[in-house]
Formats: sequence, C-alpha cells, structure tokens
Amino acid sequence: MDCIFCKIVAGQIPSPRLYEDANTIVIRDVSPQSKHHFLVLPKKHVASLADLFANEAEGRGVMGDLFSAANAVAKQEGLLTAGFRSVINTGADGGQTVFHLHLHVLGGQKMKGTFA
Ligand code: AMP
Repeated sequence: MDCIFCKIVAGQIPSPRLYEDANTIVIRDVSPQSKHHFLVLPKKHVASLADLFANEAEGRGVMGDLFSAANAVAKQEGLLTAGFRSVINTGADGGQTVFHLHLHVLGGQKMKGTFA
C-alpha cells in the first residue's frame, strides 16, 4: 500500500519518534501550524475516523490509544499545564490530506479560533 504514514511507521521514511508504544507513534508535523505540532499515528493502517468505526470495538480501542499517546506526549513536551489542541480531520470536507488516521496535537502558544 502506498501510504506515507505506513512508511514512517515501518521506518522506510525517517521521522524521529517523540513517543512510541505498542500501537502508536508520535512524530513532528513536517509543516507545523503552531510552535509545537505533533501527529499521533496508529501503527495499523486505517484510512480515516469514518473507516475506523466500521468496527465499533476496534474504533473505541484505537481512539483510546491515540488520546492516551497525545496526553503522554503533551506531558513529555511540557504542554499539559498551559494546554493544547487536538484535532482529527476526516474526509474531503474535513480537510484530510493524508489518508492514514492521525490526531494533530498543537500547542506552545495561545490558539486562536476554533472552526474554519
Ligand atoms: P491532514 O490534513 O489532517 O490529513 O494532515 C496531514 C498532515 O500531515 C499535514 O499537517 C502535513 O503537514 C503532515 N505531513 C505530511 N507528510 C508528512 C511527513 N512526511 N512527515 C510529517 N508530517 C507530514
């Protein structure tokens, strides 16, 4: 499968890991939209949040994994007290550009606005 995030998970494309556990890795976004901008990726390929919940139990598990990793990396990078934003873009109208599910973690500065 020609998926850039699968290649990062497999180590075929180098991208330093800020955090890793059994099911998840966290990398820096290549085009950061805030001082800190991380991407939390499930190791197992799933295209989007919409696809993930085709299997309800698996969906619940993966979302727990992603937010657990997001919180761990926010703690590790010193964002927990000041706060951070977590975002998942889903599909064309959601602005998703890479079709391997990922959770954006943005912080290190005061975020403005909430929606488009
Ligand atoms: P989305 O628009 O929600 O699908 O977000 C995709 C994100 O992946 C964007 O913020 C891109 O900057 C980021 N991105 C694309 N390719 C890479 C890469 N090779 N390494 C890290 N981040 C990437």
